Amino acid sequence: MTRSTAIVTGAARGIGLATTKLFLEEGRRVVMIDRDEAALAEAANGLTNITPILCDVSDPEQVAVMVPAALDALGHVDALVNNAGVADFGPIEQTDFERWRTVMATNLDGVFLVSQSLTPALKQAKGAIVNIASISGLRASTLRVAYGTSKAGVIALTEQQAAELGEYGIRANCICPGPVRTKLAMAVHTKEIIDAYHDAIPLNRYGTEREIAEAIVFLCSDKASYITGQTLAVDGGFESTGVGLP
Ligand code: NAD
Repeated sequence: MTRSTAIVTGAARGIGLATTKLFLEEGRRVVMIDRDEAALAEAANGLTNITPILCDVSDPEQVAVMVPAALDALGHVDALVNNAGVADFGPIEQTDFERWRTVMATNLDGVFLVSQSLTPALKQAKGAIVNIASISGLRASTLRVAYGTSKAGVIALTEQQAAELGEYGIRANCICPGPVRTKLAMAVHTKEIIDAYHDAIPLNRYGTEREIAEAIVFLCSDKASYITGQTLAVDGGFESTGVGLP
């Protein structure tokens, strides 16, 4: 089956933009979703076969408007990449409820809302879902009560999707990136964290957006037709070491 379309959330920069570009190289048409209007316009500039749609994935009303527009642009949905995310590092006592909710709203509610709204279309196309969690969702740490919990939720949600939607031919998998030098990561990674990651990661470096995108696009392809409900760490080997998160 030729897979010709994809929807990527958080597509205006970082891992989402790299994933969009890789889908385009493979000949897919892509709906790029983001809430940052200026960044989305800049990212879309010069790309062909894309439809940028402004949408905050944490807002049910905006998602309800986005979905028919995306379906109008693509006709059918072969792949959904729930990549939009925010990071806020802090210990439990400094994470007030507003900070907690802000992280949950995008990282967990957003994945649920967009996936649920696109489930009828994904059923029709027997499409694939790839949710972007994090190594912070696999391992506890002293700084990531909201971020880590939201990403552990994404891993659990992926397993629910795989269990429930498999009978419709929908596959759902999860990628846990290790550290990548994006705007999100550089806002929360101190020099101590960066140095500790370099020491702890067996490949001794941060990953690139493209390296994460390669795994995402593979899991969306029919080459992965018997893979569902899985969580794949794309992290230079960090998770396998058992070392704590810096
Ligand atoms: P990034 O900040 O470069 O890109 C994130 C994009 O998502 C931005 O364009 C932003 O505007 C958009 N976005 C955020 N909230 C949104 C919302 N509510 N609605 C719509 N768009 C929204 O970050 P990135 O590093 O490329 O992150 C992509 C994903 O990878 C995130 O889910 C992040 O948690 C995950 N991740 C990143 C790293 C890393 O080290 N960079 C590591 C592990 C996991």
